[in-house]
Amino acid sequence: MQVPAQFQYEKATSVDEALRLLAQYGPESRILAGGHSLIPMMKLRLAQPQALIDINEIGELARISVEEHTLCIGSMVRHAELLASAVVGEHFPIFHDAERVIADPVVRNRGTVGGSLCQADPSEDLSAAFAAVRGEAVIQGIYGQRTVPVREFFRGPYETVVGDGELLVGLRVPIRSSASAYRKVERRAGDWAVAAAGAELRLEGETVAEAGIGLTALGARSFCAPEAEEFLTGGPATQARFEQAGAIAAEHCAPVADQRGPVDYKRHLAATLTARALRAALHRWRGGHPAAGEARETEA
Ligand SMILES: Cc1cc2nc3c(=O)[nH]c(=O)nc-3n(C[C@H](O)[C@H](O)[C@H](O)COP(=O)(O)OP(=O)(O)OC[C@H]3O[C@@H](n4cnc5c(N)ncnc54)[C@H](O)[C@@H]3O)c2cc1C
Repeated sequence: MQVPAQFQYEKATSVDEALRLLAQYGPESRILAGGHSLIPMMKLRLAQPQALIDINEIGELARISVEEHTLCIGSMVRHAELLASAVVGEHFPIFHDAERVIADPVVRNRGTVGGSLCQADPSEDLSAAFAAVRGEAVIQGIYGQRTVPVREFFRGPYETVVGDGELLVGLRVPIRSSASAYRKVERRAGDWAVAAAGAELRLEGETVAEAGIGLTALGARSFCAPEAEEFLTGGPATQARFEQAGAIAAEHCAPVADQRGPVDYKRHLAATLTARALRAALHRWRGGHPAAGEARETEA
């Protein structure tokens, strides 16, 4: 039986209390959100924090709201709550697409938005979705709050800019006129991505005024594809251009071979899924609503 090493358990009921506990226990303490990544790592002794600071009872971190034309998502919002939120689906359907294909209901009922981003797993779906829509992370320390673009949030695999004594309190996405979508290939329903791509488009007439592309499980720096975004911007929104953008995204990412597939297969998926996510976003921009099931493509 796998059991974690001994640790101190503390429950915070406010952000201030969580910050005080982080300061008290120092760098060997860890925040406990949904626990779906941290607890398995502790059982395997890949993580051995001296103290766990449970933030599950901090109600202010579990809210979704719209403030001054900005969608605000608390770090303790569960995957299932993001999926159920009408305001999220209305402005950024990319999050609903992504949430429908993250794990299973058990994980989605407990796992959190903040935990997903802070875990910084290279295969995390929400990291790519937030990168595509150019979200911002709100980080709090005893000094106050700072805001970091999600594209600058990740230092590398399993590493973020959240420092010792800091807490990710939420994510913010400015609301604008745009359309977005997410497409993922997995070996079987509920599995981590073999590869996935998200896209956001804003058009002026038939011209792409702004494009955002997020990639996951593809070794893309900061989960995004800036070369493909640059290629699309200012050009016509056509299928041929989307396929070219996909080819550019595939050329610039850096997938690794693993049990989910070889490099050339993953590059093929990078190209195909980028083009499909762009096409789905364009369809939504024109008033269409692709069926929910279309976000998932299983191999089996
Ligand atoms: C079987 C299974 C399948 C899964 N499949 C997928 C999938 O297909 N796609 C996908 O994207 N994810 C998947 N996940 C991961 C899931 O999304 C987890 O919920 C997520 O990785 C971690 O969220 P959590 O709330 O459980 O965080 P925790 O495990 O509690 O924490 C993770 C890390 O983040 C830190 N942390 C958490 N919150 C904060 C905060 N507010 N501020 C600072 N640090 C913080 C913790 O200290 C810890 O280091 C899967 C997980 C499981 C168990």
